[in-house]
Amino acid sequence: MHFEVVFLGTGAAVPVPLRSTTSQFVDIHGHTYLVDAGEGVQLSLRKNKLKFQKLKGVFISHMHGDHVLGLPGLLSTMSLLGRKEPLLLWGPEELRPWLDATWKAIHAHMSFELDFKPWGEGEEVLLEGERHRLVSAPAKHRIPTRALRIEEHSLPWKLDGLQAKSKDMPFHVRQALKRGESVLWNDELQEASMWCKPPGKTRAYVYSSDTRPCESVKRLAEGADLLYHDCTFAERDASRAKDTHHSTAKEAARLANQAGVKQLVLGHISTRYRDTGELLGEALAFHSDVEVAMDGMSKIVVAG
Ligand SMILES: [Zn+2]
Repeated sequence: MHFEVVFLGTGAAVPVPLRSTTSQFVDIHGHTYLVDAGEGVQLSLRKNKLKFQKLKGVFISHMHGDHVLGLPGLLSTMSLLGRKEPLLLWGPEELRPWLDATWKAIHAHMSFELDFKPWGEGEEVLLEGERHRLVSAPAKHRIPTRALRIEEHSLPWKLDGLQAKSKDMPFHVRQALKRGESVLWNDELQEASMWCKPPGKTRAYVYSSDTRPCESVKRLAEGADLLYHDCTFAERDASRAKDTHHSTAKEAARLANQAGVKQLVLGHISTRYRDTGELLGEALAFHSDVEVAMDGMSKIVVAG
């Protein structure tokens, strides 16, 4: 089952030719989500040939411009192109009035409904799908900011279709077996393990957003197969990381290691680091599987 993240914008604060500001496209089993919407996100989606009209939801981690300024433009284009399906939108309370004021000021009429869901307190499930869920938890930044976990659950058992067909297995029996249940058929109790392979291990992707290393993000990242963590600075700028409520490469890698994360991607890279080898080197001292994100880079989430 497909589970992929495309890093559309991997830079911090200001967009430069090689690094746009933050946004990511996540496809989990064909359900697609946008995670943050930095300036120019609609062009990045087009460049990467990603279909934004089919997005199911958008998650905005916080109201800093480098995470949200691309949203009005994207929504406006969706409307101009005639989107009809409602769009889920998670974000802080201030997001809705800001968008409403923008539509009013530019005399825009939206062709679809925005199903806005402001966050609550603490860790919370934002969406519970049949086989995946979105969970959010507070990060530690200058303003209210949330991290996001997108994970699989209740994966189906793999039925041997040819065998089931050859025995004329009825639909309801197949469905029960795929859920891993035992079911009475032909006067005998059929166990899922007699007909199916058990499901693969569930996978999880976690996005830290802008943050200092903190317990809440560490808990959310526990056992994740892939973590994208704030890495705005190198260790020599650790005091700036502290002052601006961001993380260094070392801090990101140490947290990933403590949380038992399989793969770490460093992102939100400050434009001051032309050569990111310094960041990578510092992180590799604390975690063995690290990459520095690049715009347009995609990662399949692999069970660790
Ligand atoms: Zn920020």
